[in-house]
Amino acid sequence: MPLDPICKKIVSDSTEYVSDYGGKPYYFCSPECKQKFEVLEKSVIRLKRNLSDKEKISFGKLKRDIIKPGICTLCGACAASCECITIEDGKPKLVGPCKACGVCYYQCPRTITTEEGLIGNIRYAYAAKSAIPELKGQDGGVVTSLLLYALDEGLIDCAVVTSQSKEEPWKPMPIVAKTREEILESGGSIYSHSMTLEALMSAIKQGMHSIAFVGTSCNIDAVTKMQKSSHGLLHLFMRAKVLKLGLFCMDTFSYEGIKAVLESYGLLLGDVDAMKIRKGKFEVFLKNGEAHTFELSEFDEYRSSSCKFCTDLTGENSDISFGGVGSPKGWTTVLARSAMGYEIFKEAVDSGYIEAKELTDNELEKVLNLAKMKKVQMYALHMREKA
Ligand SMILES: Cc1cc2nc3c(=O)[nH]c(=O)nc-3n(C[C@H](O)[C@H](O)[C@H](O)COP(=O)(O)OP(=O)(O)OC[C@H]3O[C@@H](n4cnc5c(N)ncnc54)[C@H](O)[C@@H]3O)c2cc1C
Ligand code: SF4
Ligand code: SF4
Ligand code: SF4
Repeated sequence: MPLDPICKKIVSDSTEYVSDYGGKPYYFCSPECKQKFEVLEKSVIRLKRNLSDKEKISFGKLKRDIIKPGICTLCGACAASCECITIEDGKPKLVGPCKACGVCYYQCPRTITTEEGLIGNIRYAYAAKSAIPELKGQDGGVVTSLLLYALDEGLIDCAVVTSQSKEEPWKPMPIVAKTREEILESGGSIYSHSMTLEALMSAIKQGMHSIAFVGTSCNIDAVTKMQKSSHGLLHLFMRAKVLKLGLFCMDTFSYEGIKAVLESYGLLLGDVDAMKIRKGKFEVFLKNGEAHTFELSEFDEYRSSSCKFCTDLTGENSDISFGGVGSPKGWTTVLARSAMGYEIFKEAVDSGYIEAKELTDNELEKVLNLAKMKKVQMYALHMREKA
């Protein structure tokens, strides 16, 4: 005997109160229950109509992103929005044909379905590269070019950047850079935690008023907390203005670990010219022109434990953020966030320091996908290979 889906009473299938939904008949005990069902059904139909083809996500994705990793809170919103889903053995389960309409995915409180939820607030997104011929950066050299523009224009007194230790190559050395030469020397990425906040405090103690600060998302969060928390050191401090330049970041590894892996292949850090992490590979370029590629998994045991719990790819609390993902090789993806970040970047472009073009939808999609991987899938390493 069928069950009235609204009041859950058993009803006869010869009842006159019947409604057809998704090609399936539903039986009701009264016109009131039938009407309640139809009102809800109409809103599901409206929602389905409203979702674009790109947003039509199947139950499989809800299962992969939320149910399988154990993020599901068992709220039942997915089951309430589709007849094909039931809660069984403490988990949402598909019990009918999924039409990949996307409705369940958009009801789930644990999915992140807005751009802002994935990469924070942005004004504009660009692909950019340095227009300074001698400049060598990690991607497009845009961070370094922006710092040079700000210094040349007198907008900043100094920049907190990360250079390599002179004694131990590729060991991160945060510094207070006050000259063009120091800024130029700091270009490139070092894949180990850098204690940039020590250098920031040192800049403030040296009496610097206007400071550009470059750091990974967690570095930016530290500055933001110091600025915003009523117990933060910078909260009640009147003298220094900090422009926060955030670097996209998926992970860092201990300096000793990177050294050990490379040495196990007979490579010395002193011979390394650049390192890049791309599509699940760790690439090492030597000064003699040789290139070596390793599986990222070879460095797994040296990954900083904090990175496994980090959900911010793009430095959401910065004034402006920079990363490699999204843009073509040799270009930097730039997310301009605050008015200050946007204006200084735009001025640097107008003054000929940087070349920039708007990021296309496809390019931004790559950033969003990687950000989603970091947030929703809590950094499932095997998924990075597809990014
Ligand atoms: C640890 C780390 C992980 C990253 N992971 C990703 C990623 O997964 N995906 C992605 O798209 N982009 C990632 N990036 C960002 C990317 O590598 C580039 O920094 C970014 O694209 C800017 O390139 P650029 O050529 O414009 O910068 P450049 O002009 O080369 O300037 C780079 C700036 O980064 C600073 N810097 C270098 N190492 C560190 C460090 N350890 N801590 C703080 N500051 C540092 C330097 O001081 C310099 O100012 C990562 C960067 C770092 C440092
Ligand atoms: S048909 Fe049901 S299970 Fe499939 S996507 Fe739509 S709401 Fe989710
Ligand atoms: S809507 Fe999301 S959190 Fe709620 S039961 Fe379904 S999968 Fe779990
Ligand atoms: S992954 Fe997160 S915690 Fe780890 S270095 Fe990057 S920003 Fe910091």
